[in-house]
Amino acid sequence: MLYVVKAELARTAGELERHEGVLIAGVLDVRRAFATARKRQSTGYAGAGVEWASPSRCPTALELGNRLSDCALAVLAASAGWEGNDLAIAVAIALAESGGQVDALSFNPNGTSDEGLWQINSVHGNPVSCTLDPKCNADLAFALYESDGRSFGSWTTYEAGRHLAFLERARAALTLGPPAVTWICPVDPPHRLSDDFGAPRYGGGYHPHAGNDIFAPVGTPVRAPFAGVAVEAPSELGGLGVRVEGAFGYVYNAHLSRYGALGPVPAGAIIGYVGNSGNAATTAPHDHFEWHPDYGEAVDPFTHLLAAC
Ligand SMILES: [Zn+2]
Repeated sequence: MLYVVKAELARTAGELERHEGVLIAGVLDVRRAFATARKRQSTGYAGAGVEWASPSRCPTALELGNRLSDCALAVLAASAGWEGNDLAIAVAIALAESGGQVDALSFNPNGTSDEGLWQINSVHGNPVSCTLDPKCNADLAFALYESDGRSFGSWTTYEAGRHLAFLERARAALTLGPPAVTWICPVDPPHRLSDDFGAPRYGGGYHPHAGNDIFAPVGTPVRAPFAGVAVEAPSELGGLGVRVEGAFGYVYNAHLSRYGALGPVPAGAIIGYVGNSGNAATTAPHDHFEWHPDYGEAVDPFTHLLAAC
């Protein structure tokens, strides 16, 4: 019996070795393909980089205190020196590390600190005063990448693949232009869209309706129409509200009955549930939905909603 088991183990080990061989060959193939693609792509991306690498083309450089817009982050990374696919990865890493928060600072149990946009560890001797400056942080991050042979091995976020959830958003930030986004419907069925942008509203004094109301039963999931950061935004009028801040602007959902996922979310994540909180207490439950492209004034989201819902 023991021999049978041994033989079986030996066979399995042999198979594993063969598998491993194939795997390693596969990884090398992928690496080679990636390197070729990178070479091919870098011209295209670099060109695009030159075209948009002007902060003035970003809707807003800084917003919500010390948080950089995705676009500004992309400009910063490009100006530090990243190009091509690595530019997208660098932006994704910063999003994963700090969420674009310029003054992000975390202290590690071993007495070191992770500082700024790219959370650069103080073991590299960086003075905090410099790392909390966006440009300085980007330059330090790029220097690290260079000294590692143009790789991101210094970032555990990268090694663990945690930046992957932000790649789509990073790539979106690299292509300024009209939001070529296909939204996911912000409210699950059954629901009813109202084409009521600009309609008179009197709650909290007269104002034109800044969004569309999407009527649905209490508890119906409310979803992020695109990838972004879901942020609590409660108010007296809006009740429980959530903003989803994406590469091209933000949406605002109001009158929720409760919150869902907050923080970085992929498109389609449940960020809350339909309700009638705030000044909707006496009306039918609905999601008051606003769309603020480029983080500016609300515009009518109806065509987006028609396409998505
Ligand atoms: Zn409304």
